[in-house]
Amino acid sequence: MQEIIHYSIKQHLENFKNKKYSVKEYISACLERAEQTKHLNIFLKLDPDKILKDAEISQKRYESNQARLLEGIPISIKDNICEDGEQTTCASKILQNFIAPYDATVIKKLKDQGAILFGRTNLDEFAMGSSTENSAFMITKNPIDPTRVPGGSSGGSAASVSAKIVPASLGSDTGGSIRQPAAFCGIYGLKPTYGTVSRYGLVAFASSLDQIGPFARSVEDIALIYSVIMGYDKHDSTSHPKTQEMKIDVDPKPYTKEEKKSLKIGVYFPSENEEGFDLSVIKACIDLKNKLEQEGYQVIPINSNLWKYSIAIYYILATAEASSNLARYDGIRYGYRSKNVKNLIDVYIRSRTEGFGPEVKRRILLGTYVLSSGYYEAFYHKAQKARKMIREEYRNFFKEVDFILSPTSPTVPFKIGEKVNDPISMYKSDLLTISVNLGGIPALNIPIAKDELGLPIGMQIKAWHFEENKIFRLVKTFEEDGWIEKF
Ligand code: GLN
Repeated sequence: MQEIIHYSIKQHLENFKNKKYSVKEYISACLERAEQTKHLNIFLKLDPDKILKDAEISQKRYESNQARLLEGIPISIKDNICEDGEQTTCASKILQNFIAPYDATVIKKLKDQGAILFGRTNLDEFAMGSSTENSAFMITKNPIDPTRVPGGSSGGSAASVSAKIVPASLGSDTGGSIRQPAAFCGIYGLKPTYGTVSRYGLVAFASSLDQIGPFARSVEDIALIYSVIMGYDKHDSTSHPKTQEMKIDVDPKPYTKEEKKSLKIGVYFPSENEEGFDLSVIKACIDLKNKLEQEGYQVIPINSNLWKYSIAIYYILATAEASSNLARYDGIRYGYRSKNVKNLIDVYIRSRTEGFGPEVKRRILLGTYVLSSGYYEAFYHKAQKARKMIREEYRNFFKEVDFILSPTSPTVPFKIGEKVNDPISMYKSDLLTISVNLGGIPALNIPIAKDELGLPIGMQIKAWHFEENKIFRLVKTFEEDGWIEKF
């Protein structure tokens, strides 16, 4: 029975239909796996009784031929996406006792298709971080090497898929929080085009950059979950109307030999002794470049003069938006309220002082500073202009190439504790992911290689707005050609 936890969503759906095993049998195996991997600290909340009840309901639907698209498929959820009646803590003390009063649009869509919501996963507080060490409650460990971080901020979600507790999970990506943990955990993770997946019910960090997306262990499963959660939503003012016409191909076809020759693949790979990059990552890039050329793809090196500024731009824009979004946690309306207060001002100050962790405070301070009078023009306004330039540059690149490939992270997963006291070095792990959010484009992480310790190396595939289907086809081709590393 244990091997069933390795199967893909596609296989489970078929096996449920053909009565190879019941939904309950599979879900019980997932719960058993969650129990076995408890030491990894993946779930902030997991309710086996409720999950088993949902499994029974799904089983009945199979028996009465009423199974929906994701009937009986367990999906874990990052604890910053609202699920009606469930805790939504954002791994922050300030929301420790907060129960969401409604379903996020993505949650509603999953429920409507019969998915079983399987636990709330750990994250960096308010999705601020790259290692899941900033959670107020616990540190999630990497299933491939538990002395290392799973990446972040969606570290719990990535670990739940990597540890084979669930076949898929939802995370959020503001500057890399889906792709980097996917890379660190040896799985797939998609940051969709901005505006294709509704943010309604996602606790806001930096609203102009935040996007919800799926983790899974195959491109078909990524495409399937994406096809369910995407779509226009009137509850999200940034939902893009074009999403209404977009059809996701859940059965992407690999490119033929002839098609490969016509594809232009932009590569943004480190040079042979590039500083800040692990040698194993550099080597994986050289190998991939050789393979692409041998297969007949046209490989075109990409050089951006702007990406080196992306961390600076991001830490102005994202913190500015965060300082404004997080103003709502005032100890009055919801969440944590300090008990040692004398007056109203005290309620605000003490609740926020006691409720937020150090990284969140750092961001609020920085964001408030860059928005303050006298600095707004110098920092915020300038960063907005630079962001526009990055987007325009991407538009120009994609006139010349179909895809851009680059490593997702300059390093393999680092040790727990290694960077936690050095925010700048932590911020640098987002060097390659942030420009994607600034440009609003889609990008998917794929596991492409292992280093000598068996640690995963991820590659991200970027394309122009709304071109997720194209990315899926290229990845399907890589899968068929045996280029994907299994963990
Ligand atoms: N690591 C980045 C940060 O700390 C990105 C986080 C995210 O994408 N949510 O802000």
